[in-house]
Amino acid sequence: MVESNFIDYVKIYCRSGKGGRGSTHLHRAKYAPKGGPDGGNGGRGGHVILRGNRNFWTLLHLRYDRHIHAEHGENGGKNKSTGRQGADAYVEVPCGTVVYNAETGAYICDVTEHGQEVILLRGGRGGLGNFNFCTPTNRTPRYAQPGEPMQELSVVLELKLLADVGLVGFPNAGKSTLVSALSSAKPKIANYPFTTLEPSLGIVAYRDHQSFVMADIPGIIEGASQGKGLGLRFLRHIERNTLLLFMVPGDSDDIKREYEILLNELTTYNPELLDKGRVLAVTKCDLLDDELIEMLKETLPTELPVVFISSVTGFGLSELKDVLWREMNSESNKIAALTTHETIVHHPKDTLRLRAELMETGDDEDDGFDDDIEEEDIFDDIEDIEDLDDFEYEDEE
Ligand code: GDP
Ligand code: MG
Repeated sequence: MVESNFIDYVKIYCRSGKGGRGSTHLHRAKYAPKGGPDGGNGGRGGHVILRGNRNFWTLLHLRYDRHIHAEHGENGGKNKSTGRQGADAYVEVPCGTVVYNAETGAYICDVTEHGQEVILLRGGRGGLGNFNFCTPTNRTPRYAQPGEPMQELSVVLELKLLADVGLVGFPNAGKSTLVSALSSAKPKIANYPFTTLEPSLGIVAYRDHQSFVMADIPGIIEGASQGKGLGLRFLRHIERNTLLLFMVPGDSDDIKREYEILLNELTTYNPELLDKGRVLAVTKCDLLDDELIEMLKETLPTELPVVFISSVTGFGLSELKDVLWREMNSESNKIAALTTHETIVHHPKDTLRLRAELMETGDDEDDGFDDDIEEEDIFDDIEDIEDLDDFEYEDEE
C-alpha cells in the first residue's frame, strides 16, 4: 500500500512556557536614595492552544512537527516593568479533531468549529515583583516570586471527519462515483488522493445557496467491526455524520440482506449509530429496467426512505438530494447527531478529570499574572527563593 497522505492519527508532545521571575529590584536615584522596591512582575509563559481550522483536512502537517513548545515568559525588570509574555504556541487542527492523553488514553477535548480555541496547557504565571510585597512594616521587601513552572503533556490527536452525510456500502457499491457526480465542482478539498482507501469529502450544492458535505468512506466489508479489512479504522469517521446513506447496487442478489449486513456491522461497532437518520440508495439503476425496479420495490426494507439512483445517467439524483436534505434537517436526526459524537468506543480508560480541569479556563487576560494568587502561595513561593539578598542596585547618574 502506498504511504497515505490522509493522516487521521498523530501523537504530539506539547510544552507550555514557564512564567518569568518577579524582580527584586530596589530603586536608587540621586535624589531618591531609598526609592523603594520597584521590581516588576514576570511575564506569563505561553499557552499551548489548539485551534480549529477548516482549511486543514488531515493531521498530516503535524506529522512533521511533533514537538510543540510555547515560549517562556520574561523576567520582571526595574521600574515595575512587567516581563514580556511568552508567545502562545498554536496548533492548527482540522475541525473534528479529538484529543486524548497519550499516556492514559483519557479524553481531553474536541475541536469541532473553525476558529475554536482550546487551551491545552497553560503557561506558567509570572512571579510577582517585590513592589507587590510592600507593607507598612516591611517597606523594602527583598524578595519576589519565581515564575510558575511549565507543563508538558503528550497527546494523541484523532480526526473524525465532520460530514453531514456518510456513505456506507461495500466496495464497488458506487460511493466514489456518487460523490463525484454530486459534488458539482468536484473540489479538491483534501490534499490526499481520491482513492477508495481514504475517505474523501465532497461538497454537494443544493438548491440556491445551500450545501452539505458528503463523505465517501472506504468500503466496509463484513466483519469490519471485528477489525477485519480496512473498515474499522474508517468507521469512526461516520460516528458524527448526521445521516447515513446506505448504498447497495441494484444488481445485488438480495438488496435487503445486504443492507442488513451493513447495518449489523455498524451496530456492532457502536449501537448509538442506530440513532442516526438513514437513507437507502439502490445504485446503478441504469443496469435495471423499469419492470425490474418495480419488482424490487416489493422486496426492500420499509423502515427507511429508499431512492433508486444511477450516478452514470443522473437518474434519481435530484430526488436523492431532496430526501437527504429533508432527513438531515429533521429535528430527530439533529438530536441524534449531537448525542452521538462523544462516544469513544476505543478508549475505555476515558475519564472526566482532565476535561474538567481544562474546562476551568477563567482568567485569560494578558496581564502576565493571575488574580487568584492566594497569600499562602506567595509565602510558599518566597521560601523557595534562595538568595533573598540577591537584589539589584542601580544608581542613576
Ligand atoms: P465504491 O467502491 O463504492 O466507491 O464504488 P465506485 O464508485 O468506485 O464504483 C465501482 C464501480 O461501479 C465502478 O466501475 C463504477 O464505474 C461503477 N458504477 C458506479 N456507479 C455506477 C452507476 O450508476 N451505473 C453503472 N452502470 N456503474 C456504476
Ligand atoms: Mg470508492
